[in-house]
Amino acid sequence: MWVCELHFDCYQETQLAEAEPAIRQFIDALRYNGQIVGREFPTAMHADGLTARVVCPEQDSLHARYHSRQVALAISNLHHVGLTSPKVTLKGQDLNSDTTDACSARPWQLLYTTYLHSCSPLRCGEHLAPVPLYQIPAVANGDFKQVLKWQEDWEACDQLQMNGSILEHAAVSEISEPESRISQRGRKLAKHIESLTAIPTFYYLYRVGGDSLSAEQARPCPSCGQPWRLSEPLHEVFDFKCEPCRLISNLSWDFKD
Ligand SMILES: [Zn+2]
Ligand SMILES: [Zn+2]
Repeated sequence: MWVCELHFDCYQETQLAEAEPAIRQFIDALRYNGQIVGREFPTAMHADGLTARVVCPEQDSLHARYHSRQVALAISNLHHVGLTSPKVTLKGQDLNSDTTDACSARPWQLLYTTYLHSCSPLRCGEHLAPVPLYQIPAVANGDFKQVLKWQEDWEACDQLQMNGSILEHAAVSEISEPESRISQRGRKLAKHIESLTAIPTFYYLYRVGGDSLSAEQARPCPSCGQPWRLSEPLHEVFDFKCEPCRLISNLSWDFKD
């Protein structure tokens, strides 16, 4: 991923009270379109304008050819409050984030995230590397807001279960059970993405707990009840995969080396 700086010049008397929501709307639209990733975007005021720092999946992620109609609308709103379209400066590679998937054709892909990840939750099945969302057709209303909202909810549950003090059991159920509210939403999105991309798209179910290693190894697919264990672990995370149900999961973290 790449660190970029967006500079907005003021070309007329600009009120901060108007500039700030316009920039926030623009940043949100970019985020919901997968052109920037993360949750925090430090924005500073200068004598001649404002500067925001963002992280992009690719060097050219902010090119207009990727803009959603919401991004285009947010840009015209910037002009409306007296700001220019942003000048983009590439600052360099971000050392803290995953490398974007380089595949031109992926044999399969999956929806997968953790509380530690801010990158795209659409991952290449072969490399587990994040796929920039703007590279696939929009899932609804011109962008990927539904995917980002699913990711935020999933990550919030993962954070709660990692911390282990508040709502731990409810959070684990949401990310583990195939028919939980989060899983229903995520599986629907995965199915929709599969139809848009014509690439088999799996949904990840978290697994923790269980009685014994042998019982966990023999765990059937929680959706169809059929065997689904992989002969070899995949990407050091996944041990189970059910093709017809489009589900993928790990050997319970309690029993994984
Ligand atoms: Zn790949
Ligand atoms: Zn199944």
